[in-house]
Amino acid sequence: MSDLISADLMESWLQKPSPLDIGPEQVAELLDNAVTLVRKHADGVADGAVAPVSFDSAQIREWVSRYDFSATHSAESVMADVATSLARGIVHTTHPRYFGLFNPTPHWWGVAGDLLTAAFNPQLAAYTHAPAAVEIEQHVLRFLATKLGMPSPVAGSFTTGGAEANLTAVLVALTRHFPEYADRGLAAVPGQPVMYASAESHLAWLKIAHMTGLGRDAVRLVPVDSSFRMDIDALRRLHAADVEAGKLPFLLVGTSGTTGGGALDPLPELAACAAEWNMDLHADAAWAGTVAFSERLRPVLAGIELADSVTIDAHKWMSTPMGAGMFLSRHPKAVGESFRVSTSYMPADTLGSDPYTNSVQWSRRLIGLKVFLGLAVTGEDGYATQVERDTALGNLLAVRSAGSGWHRINDTPLPLVCVVDPAVDAALSPAESWAWHSAVANKVVERGQAWISPVRLSGRAALRLCITSYRTEAADVTALVDEMDKARDAVGIPG
Ligand SMILES: *Cc1c(COP(=O)(O)O)cnc(C)c1O
Repeated sequence: MSDLISADLMESWLQKPSPLDIGPEQVAELLDNAVTLVRKHADGVADGAVAPVSFDSAQIREWVSRYDFSATHSAESVMADVATSLARGIVHTTHPRYFGLFNPTPHWWGVAGDLLTAAFNPQLAAYTHAPAAVEIEQHVLRFLATKLGMPSPVAGSFTTGGAEANLTAVLVALTRHFPEYADRGLAAVPGQPVMYASAESHLAWLKIAHMTGLGRDAVRLVPVDSSFRMDIDALRRLHAADVEAGKLPFLLVGTSGTTGGGALDPLPELAACAAEWNMDLHADAAWAGTVAFSERLRPVLAGIELADSVTIDAHKWMSTPMGAGMFLSRHPKAVGESFRVSTSYMPADTLGSDPYTNSVQWSRRLIGLKVFLGLAVTGEDGYATQVERDTALGNLLAVRSAGSGWHRINDTPLPLVCVVDPAVDAALSPAESWAWHSAVANKVVERGQAWISPVRLSGRAALRLCITSYRTEAADVTALVDEMDKARDAVGIPG
């Protein structure tokens, strides 16, 4: 060091004040400014297009590269500039007519909670570094496990999202089923482990199989029935063939609310299969798990209490800002075994409850505060009211679209409606029908008044319409169907 930097230079460096330490007035100004921008966005977003007419990446890149980080700018000007660019350059998931992919309008307690989290910046890796923060998270996780009817004790962790929670499920199931896996890896396992999920499941399973070394072929995508639920007979056949071929089935995934069509795999039957075949059952309820808050809708999740582990995303139907997923497991010992490690520089794990020895992450943000605040302020009844209201809006959407000649092809009680134009659906090939329904979805998005997407359910093309925002009203549902009708006219019915 002394060769590289002279003592005089060191002394001059020491004399410089910290450029990051901006002082209380500037802090107050900055935060006020952020609040003003956020409120302006929230107040105005419903008046603009849900999605920008077209993303011009070259233009966006040209804009952002004006910040070459040699010149400096006032925080006020940069933030205003960024807010303008975001307003023009993103799909507005906070718009009341965003009928999209489970990206909610975040509730304000969550936005405020993320601010507290960022500013206090607790480190949740080791329990002793942030006992208050860890206990907040564990309290929320235990509460949700109880809501789902899972028997205690339950091990849980917050994750960045459903994909990480599902990854955790696979790691724990592998560790539970194959004693060799932890230290000697899959190569030491006497055979090829395989897992089962429905053909309509979330395909993060393929990435997870790739990441864990199982390989993508280890994921058996089980055919679905006419309601897009896992076909149990097909599962039995696949399982029997795998056993016959010497494969090692270890995990069965039931999806409670598929991403495409909101289908609910029959969890009680899956639990029976898992028990019979000595496999773990994981329930992926990333989106629909939130219906557990409603007594009336809770039966939709029947059987989830039998699962070995569960995924729920708070950043989907619990309407927190991203990213807030949750993993719950009935096997605390296996969870600890999956993530065990010790190092000299980490505080000693006195309680066996250090988050970093029980989860994928090491340094860990306080993810659960935004979930805790939403629950503490609006209560479980608030969430019950919200999911019931959304369910009724979904029903209204089904009724209104049927009234306009759209034909629904899924039958979930969840507020996710997949419709086709019956003439197109009957007359065109699957590829042509996909092109037509995509063109209609594009036309709706282009007109700026609503956002929907095309989807394929068991290969059949449809329009996917999902209630995701607590700002959505009945009038927005009516407006959406109106936009779909206009788009159908613009694209034209072939033949
Ligand atoms: C969204 C979703 C996931 C993935 O969750 P992320 O939060 O996007 O990581 C997994 N499974 C289902 C059923 C989902 O809907």
